[in-house]
Amino acid sequence: MTYPFSLPSSPSADAPPLLRNYIGGEFVASDAHFENRSPVTGDLLALVSEAGTTEVNQAVAAARAALTGPWGQFDVQQRAALLVKIADGIERRFEEFVAAEVADTGRPIHQARTLDIARGVANFRTFAQLISTASSEIFESRAADGSDQFSYVVRKPLGVVGIISPWNLPMLLLTWKVAPALAMGNCVVVKPSEETPSSATLLAEVMHEAGVPRGVFNLVHGFGPGSAGEALTRHKDVAAITFTGESRTGSAIMKAVADDVKEISFELGGKNAAVVFADADFEAAVEGVRRSSFTNAGQVCLCSERVYVERPIFERFVAALKQKTEAMKIGFPDDANVDMGPVISRGHRDKVLSYYRLAVDEGATVVTGGGTPQFGDERDGGAYVEPTILTGLPDSARCVTEEIFGPVCHIAPFDAEDEVVRRVNDSAYGLAACVWTTSLARAHRVSRQMHTGLVWVNTWFSRDLRTPFGGTKLSGLGREGGRHSLDFYSELSTICIKL
Ligand code: NAD
Repeated sequence: MTYPFSLPSSPSADAPPLLRNYIGGEFVASDAHFENRSPVTGDLLALVSEAGTTEVNQAVAAARAALTGPWGQFDVQQRAALLVKIADGIERRFEEFVAAEVADTGRPIHQARTLDIARGVANFRTFAQLISTASSEIFESRAADGSDQFSYVVRKPLGVVGIISPWNLPMLLLTWKVAPALAMGNCVVVKPSEETPSSATLLAEVMHEAGVPRGVFNLVHGFGPGSAGEALTRHKDVAAITFTGESRTGSAIMKAVADDVKEISFELGGKNAAVVFADADFEAAVEGVRRSSFTNAGQVCLCSERVYVERPIFERFVAALKQKTEAMKIGFPDDANVDMGPVISRGHRDKVLSYYRLAVDEGATVVTGGGTPQFGDERDGGAYVEPTILTGLPDSARCVTEEIFGPVCHIAPFDAEDEVVRRVNDSAYGLAACVWTTSLARAHRVSRQMHTGLVWVNTWFSRDLRTPFGGTKLSGLGREGGRHSLDFYSELSTICIKL
């Protein structure tokens, strides 16, 4: 599998490719650049142009100008047709997107094909359909003077929307916001994570090929504080910021946008629980928890890092999960049988390993894992950690309360339904929970009581893109998905007509 950016975008035959910003319909390099390295081997993949305040100002100005250009005249059908064209464009270059995502993240290639890039396509198709069928609200009433009146609601674009995304599901999470933002007629300036610039750069190429008018989609590469991310959040002409990432970054962005009272939508961190009742389908629950703890090396905001198992099946469950975990194949992403790749970077690996050490200091039993795998080849230069199961920690331990964002879960026993609901809810986070039971009444009763934006019963990660998505407490602010995205990415305006 070859990285999609090669010599054509390189300054010289020997130099690594240079990924550029995309501003006002043109690819532009900046004076500064940073490195994009493979988490599989540590090798240099590309240099990336780093946008600063100058480039962000140019991108926002281009976006602002485009709002009043031809794009501003596009009706719903034209916007829907353009979204479909973008989806077609991604599909045409599907394998290049897969290669970009695999190179940046080291994830198994089958995951990039079936989840990341497939969902990128689905995001554009879904919102094309949703705007084509969306209706408006109309109210008939009688005014004080007895005359009839009717009020109806129109949607207008917000203006320039800043989209800031993380590295864990780069294409999926970026397009989840770009598609509805464009669907509602906005112009966007996107800043992908500095760890994963490649699929966003390809997306800019697809936008160009699809004929998206200049300035409607702009891409700036860079970091957060003191770099492109912060410049975007503080720009006066940006009407809204939609952000996915860590909770403390959300808090910093909230402060940055406060003076201008920008619209915000935040999808933030999690410390999600899975609850396994003794009446659950045992095999399904073990496999479900393996998936929910270790998919994408545990780097999904929805992963289960806290697992509560009803006491009668606790020992058996831990043993079965250990066996399944130790059977997982860790390795090169392009191996069709691989279950898990590296974490995103050496820096993140160090953070995850520091939690593995902390768990032992806090008194945990390490059931399996707890270190780094040794391969004896170039992967030893990468960012691999072992999938890890812990037991024996109190609920107050830092490893049970703080988001680790790696392939790790802590399993604790519980005795009663109300007890486990209380323990699950006793968290600063509130993104998602899983409930494993064969009792329909219990499934509903327990799910209703979870203080989370999402509850899965006997499954994990299954999503209907029309449903609201988001978290409570430190896990986020607002909901996106389906009509909730249409609401966030538009300004509702009520018109009242006296008849
Ligand atoms: P991060 O917060 O470090 O970075 C996310 C993005 O924000 C990056 O593009 C980064 O450059 C930018 N950024 C950082 N500081 C900024 C600042 N002060 N101003 C503006 N931009 C800034 O997050 P990450 O490490 O890339 O991603 C992992 C986190 O994302 C985890 O906490 C995970 O739970 C969360 N996440 C949440 C969801 C969700 O839907 N709730 C989905 C995926 C990931």
